[in-house]
Amino acid sequence: MPDEERPGLPTLITAVWGRLMMEKEYRGAALAALLGHFVAHDECNKEAQRTWSSFLFEAVKDIQSEQRDAQAIPSCSFCGRREPDVRLAAGADAFICDDCVNNLAKFFKSK
Ligand SMILES: [Zn+2]
Repeated sequence: MPDEERPGLPTLITAVWGRLMMEKEYRGAALAALLGHFVAHDECNKEAQRTWSSFLFEAVKDIQSEQRDAQAIPSCSFCGRREPDVRLAAGADAFICDDCVNNLAKFFKSK
């Protein structure tokens, strides 16, 4: 592809950021936004820097929201599954599911 037809780095990073956000790969999107910010900084493009800062903010906000959701819904501390896929029992700082209890019971019986 001749150079003049090749998309610029900011265009490529914008496309990558957009795809990662769509796929809910927020950590990758945050890195893409950082890269976009560095490129904009290198080009002394203040407006693009502000845009990339807002893209980074958006990705970080989604990472935080995902973490809050994961903490709000109890899951088995051993296998990570949640109700209704498994039944959960709560401990002091952890949960365990019926499958893991059965597997652990088999493991300890075999010892
Ligand atoms: Zn489990």
